[in-house]
Amino acid sequence: MIVAMLETANEEQIQGVLERMVEIGFNVHRTTGAVQTILAGVGTPGNFDHKDFELLAGVAHVHRISSPYKLAGRGFRPEGTVVRFKNGVSVGGNEVVVMAGPCSVEGREQIALAAAQVKAAGAKFLRGGAFKPRSSPYSFQGMGLEGLKLLRDVGDASGLLIISEVMEISQIELMLPYVDCFQVGARNMQNFNLLRELGLVRKPVLLKRGIAATIEEVLLSAEYILSGGNYDLMLCERGIRTFETYTRNTMDISAIPVIKKLSHLPILGDPSHGVGLRDKVPAMARAAVAAGADGLLIEVHPNPDKAFSDGAQSLFPEQFEELMASLRLISSAVGRKIA
Ligand code: PEP
Ligand code: MN
Repeated sequence: MIVAMLETANEEQIQGVLERMVEIGFNVHRTTGAVQTILAGVGTPGNFDHKDFELLAGVAHVHRISSPYKLAGRGFRPEGTVVRFKNGVSVGGNEVVVMAGPCSVEGREQIALAAAQVKAAGAKFLRGGAFKPRSSPYSFQGMGLEGLKLLRDVGDASGLLIISEVMEISQIELMLPYVDCFQVGARNMQNFNLLRELGLVRKPVLLKRGIAATIEEVLLSAEYILSGGNYDLMLCERGIRTFETYTRNTMDISAIPVIKKLSHLPILGDPSHGVGLRDKVPAMARAAVAAGADGLLIEVHPNPDKAFSDGAQSLFPEQFEELMASLRLISSAVGRKIA
């Protein structure tokens, strides 16, 4: 793959470069960074010459990238990706953004209370599953469309952005009006057809690491979304399955700095699924921020003992409030801000 970075290029110059790249056989993607327009060409055109591009008006640099994850690799956008949302919220900048709420939407009263509680403590996003990937078909499967409507209502009323899991292609269109960000769960990290479709959507996606996925596999999955043209993508470490049985999963904190180095995409930590035990969640949340996470996804429930799913790993609202206070200290120690 080659990447052409244009500095101070005008639209006409950009079109000229795009056309030339297509002409010699590249599949071209265009994206805009903070100061540059970046054109990426994927493919193996016959007699390609770097000079071909460097001589074109507006082209500042041309890079050849040989890593298997071409668009997800750091080299594609060295300055890092910032995913922008409404309400002035952005992920991948200086602020550590917290997304919190119950595992599942269970009803209006529950989700409204959760929203008020996480908002008061400083969360920017309300999380909550309407479609739930449960290990057993007999477990609660989520409220579906009704749950999405509740999320949107409560989000709008409280000024919180909404993130919720999409499990299959047919749910994408249904969810579009109700969510600010699609969450792809661990079990679907390699659902390549779903990833391809999310590449065509103009809405941010949070891609969670698979239960037994290597970091390279995470980045290759990201590549499916990016290569469709959707660059508003964030990754999330949520624990992997190891031989250890004390915790539900093993939170791979080291994945955070590793992904930061390998990729330009924001990386979040999910300490709730990461360990699966409520009393270990705060320590893992702090560790994730200390390790450089751009955000956190945390399960908080108004009454965890009565939760329909993941109650054992959901924080009590008071615990979440306390955690946020300690995260402010950790954030400032690593030069980041948090609400
Ligand atoms: C969730 O966020 O509730 C969830 C199901 O997460 P994961 O896909 O990481 O298991
Ligand atoms: Mn959960």
